[in-house]
Amino acid sequence: NSQAVRAYMDEVYNKVLERNPGETEFHQAVKGTFESLVPVFEQHPVYMEKGILEQIVEPERIISFRVPWVDDNGKVHVNRGFRVQFNSAIGPYKGGLRFHPSVNAGIIKFLGFEQIFKNSLTGLPIGGGKGGSDFDPKGKSDDEIRRFCQSFMTELSNHIGPDKDVPAGDIGVGAREIGYLFGHYKRLQGGYPAGVLTGKGIGYGGSLARKEATGYGTVYFMKEMLKGAELDFAGKTVVVSGSGNVAIYAIEKAQEFGAKVVACSDSSGFIYDKEGIKLDTVKQLKEVEYARISEYVKHHPNAEYVEDCSKIWSLPCDIALPCATQNEIDEASARELVKNGVKAVAEGANMPSTEEAIHVFQENGVLFGPAKAANAGGVAVSALEMSQNSMRLSWSFEEVDAKLHEIMESIYANAVAASEKYGKSGNLVAGADIAGFLKVADAMVAHGN
Ligand code: GLU
Repeated sequence: NSQAVRAYMDEVYNKVLERNPGETEFHQAVKGTFESLVPVFEQHPVYMEKGILEQIVEPERIISFRVPWVDDNGKVHVNRGFRVQFNSAIGPYKGGLRFHPSVNAGIIKFLGFEQIFKNSLTGLPIGGGKGGSDFDPKGKSDDEIRRFCQSFMTELSNHIGPDKDVPAGDIGVGAREIGYLFGHYKRLQGGYPAGVLTGKGIGYGGSLARKEATGYGTVYFMKEMLKGAELDFAGKTVVVSGSGNVAIYAIEKAQEFGAKVVACSDSSGFIYDKEGIKLDTVKQLKEVEYARISEYVKHHPNAEYVEDCSKIWSLPCDIALPCATQNEIDEASARELVKNGVKAVAEGANMPSTEEAIHVFQENGVLFGPAKAANAGGVAVSALEMSQNSMRLSWSFEEVDAKLHEIMESIYANAVAASEKYGKSGNLVAGADIAGFLKVADAMVAHGN
């Protein structure tokens, strides 16, 4: 039986390689998940009989479109837009939009695939999707960003809707971009379709605590991991990569829990402030001025700036929270972290650790919280934003934050329970994949897929 399962998985995986040539991040995401699901397929032949695996790796729909826009000098540019509607077994497609020059079909597929399981883990009725563009927002004027968002939405609006597909932000897409995207959707479709996007401004249908949710959620998840090992945040040295929406609120909550956060980064480099990061400065630079993190040292001359963001993992720390981007921790970085005594890692970004890095952590007894579980707080509160939009009311910050906290606790508990039930005790990667998969797979079987 075990051999039959392996053979089946190899066959499906080879098909993925063949059908999606060169899309290495997507291959990586699929491979990792298959590895986790071996015991599930051994115990439940029904999923193999119904062909669930070969269905789940194929997006229900991929939309690829032209996004023309005019810069401030009147020059026309053309970018490529994507929306991958991956799986709608348990709810409307849900997932962010990423604007970054590295975006291509493979990146959006990997993110969309991960999103299926993450969204399932939240316990809320949301399917998996993802979108974005290879547009580079860096150095663009506010007007250029607005024109780009409007052009992007001109096509995307044909494919989304409050009960169909609900995008939100991701790298390069924050409150400002969601505002421009929402304004244009409303202009095109009429009415007040509040639930078509999440991460909206508080004054026009957004949810309190959505901005904080991914970062806070990652720290709540880490708190559960630490508790399981009779540890906590108090007095711990923490390194957080990134300085965007996820990193900023991970730092905020970790500091609130008594940790000392000594570093954060952007794609150009990292800052090290051994007395502890002054978060107000980071917020001002990143949320207001859209500046580079290197500016931090102008305000705090005692801090250091190092122009190589990957070197951030050479800093000694007890807890590492990668909140920047995919594959930012490779095997060498993981070994550095272990050598310097890291005790726990939780992923705020999507797939920030390579397959080899994860093995290094697991072999060395480092507590490891995978992205699908650890960063699910953002999309969980997005689903709560959809609920509030449907009910035409809004909850207080405290109410949403309490629900977020509860959701992160239950994701942790469910991942632990699944890992134990399927003989992978102590492996949250497997636990999260299994718990996320079962709900989606059962829905697909029930639907006659
Ligand atoms: N981009 C976030 C993620 O990776 C949030 C998606 C959402 O809120 O829909 O989960």
